[in-house]
Amino acid sequence: MSEEVKPESMSLYSVSAAATPEQEAVCIFGTGDLGRSLGQRLLQSGYRLVYGSRRPHSCGPIPPGAQVMSHEIAARSASLVFVCVHREHYDFLETLAPQLKGKVLVDVSNNLKKNMYPEANAEFLQRLIPGAHVVKAFNTLSAWALQNGPSDANRQVYLCGNSPEAKQAVAEIATKLGFSVQDRGSLSAARELEDFPLQLFPEWRLPMRLTIGLTAFFFFYLLIRDVIFAYVDQGKDNSFRIMVSLANEVFPIVSLILLSLCYLPGVIAAFLQLYRGTKYKRFPDWLDRWMLCRKQLGLIALALASLHVLYTLIIPIRYYVRFILAANTISQIKENKTSVFDTTMGWRTDSYYSMGILGFGLYLLLGIASLPSVSNALSWREFSFIQSKLGYLTLFFCTFHTYLYGWDKFLFISYYKWYTPPGYMLCLVVPSVVLLLKLLLLLPCVDKSLTRIRQGWERTDPEDDSKKSLLAKDCQKL
Ligand code: NAP
Repeated sequence: MSEEVKPESMSLYSVSAAATPEQEAVCIFGTGDLGRSLGQRLLQSGYRLVYGSRRPHSCGPIPPGAQVMSHEIAARSASLVFVCVHREHYDFLETLAPQLKGKVLVDVSNNLKKNMYPEANAEFLQRLIPGAHVVKAFNTLSAWALQNGPSDANRQVYLCGNSPEAKQAVAEIATKLGFSVQDRGSLSAARELEDFPLQLFPEWRLPMRLTIGLTAFFFFYLLIRDVIFAYVDQGKDNSFRIMVSLANEVFPIVSLILLSLCYLPGVIAAFLQLYRGTKYKRFPDWLDRWMLCRKQLGLIALALASLHVLYTLIIPIRYYVRFILAANTISQIKENKTSVFDTTMGWRTDSYYSMGILGFGLYLLLGIASLPSVSNALSWREFSFIQSKLGYLTLFFCTFHTYLYGWDKFLFISYYKWYTPPGYMLCLVVPSVVLLLKLLLLLPCVDKSLTRIRQGWERTDPEDDSKKSLLAKDCQKL
């Protein structure tokens, strides 16, 4: 390998004259996409940069101000080396073991799929060069993100390694580059970090599956009730209803269920804490996972509610609706009849619309408050006031909106086609249960116990009757 510096980079380096005695040198192995982008950011942040390349004379373009050398010489010039080379090519590093001894080696590599190799790339690198301090870092950032600087979506640098000093050195560089650092522990966490970039919307999977499942169920349920029943029972072709009427039933139904599923795990968690008498026991995994995807559930619910609003707005211009209205008016004229204004109906429909509008307005507020740029600007109290208190109010308005829609229809057998209840009745079950349970939790005696538990009180001694019956006592006092 040549020890010379690449000519064009040499000239650029001298022009920029970036290096001053106090500048810390950093080495990057590999002049590929990531090496170049990372190098550019390091130079911008005031580091002296040396590339180690197989072809110091003929490698691709490098950022102005950097030097390119053979791996061996480059390794000697810095105490920290970024290995921006694919794992398949790590073998050459073994021959550099003497030069890399005692140095910090940053493994940035990723794999094409999970479990491609028996051990994590960073652990493999550590095994190849036992004398170096390997740190896994920067692998979750793309070359593009590095080039363009940290954005909201890409502000984090996750790192792990066995040497605290080596991690500290890498953390300092990441901070200087404008990233925030999250230490994930020892090098055994490397596999987890290497799996991060392979994940495709992991937190959306459960909510999406649930949404698809519920949508499919209610679509077929309503298809049977609204279209197939009419065809079998009355010989009527109602299939045109699929496009707007059915969609406008399925979307709000699924939206309301998903919204209530955002609040159900919180209620279950509260009852679990009351039952256990402590907040220090872990929740079951399924509850943890459920709670972690509440934001996604809420956003999907909001999207479906927005569709419901749009479908509702086009009702007056539908051919079917205009036809029915015209037919009714003509028949009234023909029969010389005048319908009497029904005040109850006026109240009912206005209340129904009003609840829907208020519910949707708050729904939007919840969605906006969940945006990172907005939630970051809120204090914890403000955030929980919106997501919890206003969230329950949203659920209440939307549930009430649905009850008003149903009104007294549940009393008439004709609505139970083939003995099946209408869709909106089914969808009221979960939100009603959630609101009822929440009301129970708001009872002063229950609320007091829960607050004490959440402040750290524990029902530790099962023999101590006074503690055991805390809930009962609180209830008796009131
Ligand atoms: P790349 O563009 O293909 O560059 C890899 C570099 O490795 C080459 O430019 C070459 O540099 C060197 N190399 C190639 N074959 C070699 C061999 N047989 N022996 C020694 N060196 C060899 O790849 P990249 O996109 O920069 O990715 C580099 C590493 O960063 C990978 O492990 C990747 O998983 C990781 N990563 C990439 C990104 C990204 O956005 N690109 C994001 C996160 C992590 P020289 O010709 O100068 O020797």
